[in-house]
Amino acid sequence: MSSLSLKNISVVYNENSSFSKKALDNINVDFPEGKIIGIIGKTGSGKSTLASLLNGLIQPTSGQVLLDNKDIWEDPKKIRDVRFKVGLSFQYPEYQLFGETVREDISFGPKNMGLSEKEIAERVNAAALFCGIDPKVMNNSPFELSGGQRRRVAIAGIVAMDPSILVLDEPASGLDPVGREEILGGIVRNSKERGTTTIIISHSMEDIAKYVDRIVVMNKGSKMLDDEPKKVFAHYEELEKVGLAAPQVTYMMHALAEKGIPVNTQATTISEAVETITQTLKK
Ligand code: ADP
Repeated sequence: MSSLSLKNISVVYNENSSFSKKALDNINVDFPEGKIIGIIGKTGSGKSTLASLLNGLIQPTSGQVLLDNKDIWEDPKKIRDVRFKVGLSFQYPEYQLFGETVREDISFGPKNMGLSEKEIAERVNAAALFCGIDPKVMNNSPFELSGGQRRRVAIAGIVAMDPSILVLDEPASGLDPVGREEILGGIVRNSKERGTTTIIISHSMEDIAKYVDRIVVMNKGSKMLDDEPKKVFAHYEELEKVGLAAPQVTYMMHALAEKGIPVNTQATTISEAVETITQTLKK
């Protein structure tokens, strides 16, 4: 298990050129051990830049990325070790599948780590279980699987490297509701059980609201909010001004309250809404 934090991080692309672009402006974020943190923001807000910093794919222009309180760039030669500890799944990772079988694909990372055959097999089986992959498909071609299943195979390839921190960039995008629930519900629940610090990047609050301990809202390269989901959604009017939306249920609860119906406006899921509305009706 590990913790990560970003201290006074700024990232400027193409510095000293007329194309210079400040993608992150003095960001401070903590990702404590074992917590599930969501990073939300609309396109261009700096989410992918932030994700690429976390496992040392890019170096900050200023500031520090601390992994277990140690600056990951202190010794640039050791950055490979950081990439093993912080597993990053890019958007649409299933496009990078190439193995003839699901097993071969998931094995690629651990094989590169120089583990024994036995360790590789154990890691691959554990990662498949973690990601909810049916053992029956392990010897099938990944290309025979559905989009959601292929994505789980791709994520399992990262989990098989046994990272202590898992970063998932838009893990649910483009999937139907069942696929989304399988990825977010399944993988995130397993992360929580195993104590893997997990960072989920998304442009949709609604998708990740119920799975995360905290939400960091990014806007134009700055951190706008950083709090528990319910406290973040209480700012739903400000969120809307920057092109983000709270869960639909938040709007419904506020609309009911405005009409004088005393419901709990902090309800964000359907079951919480049902509960507070039922209580109000009983009164
Ligand atoms: P998001 O993931 O939220 O869409 P990004 O981190 O991709 O945001 O981008 C943040 C800003 O940095 C955007 O204005 C984007 O155009 C710019 N940017 C991202 N990557 C590069 C790059 N490699 N070179 C120049 N500008 C970039």
